[in-house]
Amino acid sequence: MKGAEKLAMREAANCADEVLTALGMETLPVDPFAVATRKDIIVQAADLDSCSGCLTVVGSAYGILYARGLGNEGFERFTVSHELGHFFLPGHPTALFANGRTIHQSHSGFVSADPIERQADYFAGALLMPERLFRGALRAQQAVGFGTVQALAAMCRTSITATAIRFALYADDPVAVIVSKGQTVEYCFMSDAITTRRGLSWLRKGSPVPRRTVTADFNRTASNITGAVEKEGTSMLSDWFDGAPDTEMNEDVVGLGRYDRTLTVLFTDEALDEEGEETGDDE
Ligand SMILES: [Zn+2]
Repeated sequence: MKGAEKLAMREAANCADEVLTALGMETLPVDPFAVATRKDIIVQAADLDSCSGCLTVVGSAYGILYARGLGNEGFERFTVSHELGHFFLPGHPTALFANGRTIHQSHSGFVSADPIERQADYFAGALLMPERLFRGALRAQQAVGFGTVQALAAMCRTSITATAIRFALYADDPVAVIVSKGQTVEYCFMSDAITTRRGLSWLRKGSPVPRRTVTADFNRTASNITGAVEKEGTSMLSDWFDGAPDTEMNEDVVGLGRYDRTLTVLFTDEALDEEGEETGDDE
């Protein structure tokens, strides 16, 4: 993650924490609809086809619309939280409602490259899964891999994808979360145990899904994705990341249904090999 993006993410997290503290909302699950009500923001479902949600302003009155029929409570809550981000984040209202504009249409869920959209996504993640509460819930988990993501998503009432991203950010063990479409990587989030590894190249948006992986095989069958099929296997960290050690990773793969993408969780509870350490037989 680049420096500017990291800074924007931290600013979003601090802002979300301040909002929750000011409102005395310090338990999971966080209710973004209640946050809006406390701020006199009217929230309504609407038939939107060109965006996931929008923030409107008339005079000093703000309103949020979110797409009806997303069919996913977690994504609805994320969308409302994204719009709250535009309301609370310093500079957002000024930027979005310049020159008499009264509506901002959002594309939430980490699909946009626009820095203002990405910061609102980070705000949404941090509002629904505040670091302190999320880390506590993560440490209490017995499950591993995708099971951890499912348990945390149930606790936070968040989507699988948004939860998996937070899981990657806060896991102590080596964890990478990859979202792919067909044979192309859309994005990847990694835990510190991977990002701080020297000489390892990060997986970029648009990279091909490595061929010898469970994910590559899984994505060849469209019904795996539409049918939300789950599959488990293993792959090597070095299959995914150039310059990574040959550490065997568990690879949990799940089809994201209507979202038409695949979520991959790579994880191990073993530390990555020391750099330069001989792992094979010397002879
Ligand atoms: Zn937006």
